[in-house]
Amino acid sequence: MDQYCILGRIGEGAHGVVFKAKHVETGEIVALKKVALRRLEDGIPNQALREIKALQETEDSPYVVQLKAVFPHGAGLVLAFEFMLSDLAEVVRHAQRPLAQAHVKSYLQMLLKGVAFCHANNIVHRDLKPANLLISSSGQLKIADFGLARIFSPDGSRLYTHQVATRWYRAPELLYGACQYDQGVDLWAVGCIMGELLNGSPLFPGENDIEQLCCVLRILGTPSPKVWPEITELPDYKKISFKEQAPVPLEEVLPDASPQALDLLGQFLLYPPRQRIAASQESACLGVLGPGLP
Ligand code: ADP
Ligand code: MG
Repeated sequence: MDQYCILGRIGEGAHGVVFKAKHVETGEIVALKKVALRRLEDGIPNQALREIKALQETEDSPYVVQLKAVFPHGAGLVLAFEFMLSDLAEVVRHAQRPLAQAHVKSYLQMLLKGVAFCHANNIVHRDLKPANLLISSSGQLKIADFGLARIFSPDGSRLYTHQVATRWYRAPELLYGACQYDQGVDLWAVGCIMGELLNGSPLFPGENDIEQLCCVLRILGTPSPKVWPEITELPDYKKISFKEQAPVPLEEVLPDASPQALDLLGQFLLYPPRQRIAASQESACLGVLGPGLP
């Protein structure tokens, strides 16, 4: 830590405090994320190890925030990341509403490239949301906060906790208690983020887990085994029943968005996870959204 001079506090999330700091010798500005080590006898917390492992595997993508160094500090660890000016949550908060389509398109394009890269490396991020998408001073978007990322096993045999992803961006299979899930949870979150960029406010702002499901159902309609056969196998399917509701067309929800944007949005916001359009395919689909930023 001696090699850095702390310049100020920039953020605090679920898993640590983040400081802006300057490398004393090189003058490089970085973001230092302190991860607490709760019980020393357990060694380095899994949370931190997961983050480091996922980041090391993705250090080659320009759309993933770069991890520069890791070192022990006190009873914890410090991760040094390239410094980013802002995040997408702040951009949405301060933008004139709604964001111009060219802006939506270029943010989405960078997000999709980052997500495609993670998925190609079998990493499911699991907590994609505007606050975890950092923006550089030149406007580049990079995915951050791999605290919840887990190396995804392609055979799908591992069981995961369903309490992942900040509620508003949480996929319906997680809301129904799924313990086995895949890249689809990230693609749902991408849809929520795209909708939020078009809308200027969150698409599904549920105040608790049940209400979250209600928010989704209000727009997509009640999921039936006809459109989503696997729903009957989800742990909480029989525990929660909702009255039959028809879907609301997306053009009514987002009247200012272009038909092409809504068509793409509809391909992310699908109940069956496997039907959601893959991040690698999406880059091609973005062509239909017209020009982005140069
Ligand atoms: P948590 O797991 O606690 O949510 P994050 O990695 O998401 O931790 O960091 C919390 C916040 O700190 C972010 O939302 C962002 O505002 C800020 N932050 C994180 N990393 C950086 C960075 N590399 N540059 C600038 N700000 C950052
Ligand atoms: Mg975060």
